[in-house]
Amino acid sequence: MIQLYQPLNFMGMVYREIKQAVLDIETMFGILDRPAEILDRPGAPDLAVRQGEVRFENVVFAYDPERPILKGIDFAVPAGRTVAVVGPSGAGKSTLSRLLFRFYDVSGGRITIDGQDIRTVSQTSLRAAIGMVPQDTVLFNDTIRYNIRYGRWEATDAEVEQAAALAQIDDFIRSTPAGYDTEVGERGLKLSGGEKQRVAIARTILKSPPILVLDEATSALDSYTEREIQEALERVSKNRTTIVIAHRLSTVVGADEIIVLNEGRIVERGTHGELLDRGGFYAGMWNRQKEAEAARETLAHAAAEG
Ligand code: ADP
Ligand code: MG
Repeated sequence: MIQLYQPLNFMGMVYREIKQAVLDIETMFGILDRPAEILDRPGAPDLAVRQGEVRFENVVFAYDPERPILKGIDFAVPAGRTVAVVGPSGAGKSTLSRLLFRFYDVSGGRITIDGQDIRTVSQTSLRAAIGMVPQDTVLFNDTIRYNIRYGRWEATDAEVEQAAALAQIDDFIRSTPAGYDTEVGERGLKLSGGEKQRVAIARTILKSPPILVLDEATSALDSYTEREIQEALERVSKNRTTIVIAHRLSTVVGADEIIVLNEGRIVERGTHGELLDRGGFYAGMWNRQKEAEAARETLAHAAAEG
């Protein structure tokens, strides 16, 4: 009985992995926007993650050969450290995360993890090593439990619920008609942007990968929830190699290094303090955000009093 069960269980795992890979790509790009097929080299070995150092070496990339997007990007994320990437919309920040996940191959240069060019290792092992909270999370047409467990199929119900609690979504899930068994997605309960983002965060907390990519991971949340989740994300990213892509600069103040990207080039880099002292591009972005926040507060006060 056990002997029969094992291979069936294994087949189930393989089936789920294939289904997962297909869903991944569809989820990230939508059916109409599927990238050129990225294939494993014959006999590609698995990625061997040792410390988890990520390097972009003179990376050049274009979706369309006529229009270069990344024009020579060089930076390293030392193992266990956090590097933030900031810059205006359209600068190429999300493209960096898509390249690291190998949804596309670089047009020039290379990306390595612990010295291994990511084009030389199996995609399954590459993607298993990276936890990504994307800008827009699309949920599977399945239960909430399935959507969180997607981070790690072997997780117990208790672990799924613990991850949900850390991502501040457990209470919400319990308030839905069938709790963790509620169907979500296109054909089920529609979740708001912030709720979907929290499901994605729970998934990543459960996956607990050596490398984390947070692409504006808290952008759809109100500032109270954002602060709460920020703490959970800081706990998961502690001692893990982390790339944080952020619009709201207040979330990257503590990064070991901040890379400022504009029109596909690194225009400044340093710590928050160094960049403020420099009084350049980053300092300008910081001051504009502070002014906008102050203006919002003034308006809120006026509304409260008036
Ligand atoms: P950011 O995350 O900094 O806002 P992106 O990396 O998403 O910027 O996009 C950088 C540039 O690449 C933008 O001009 C965007 O329009 C373009 N771009 C993004 N995705 C695609 C795609 N799939 N095909 C063609 N161009 C794209
Ligand atoms: Mg983006």
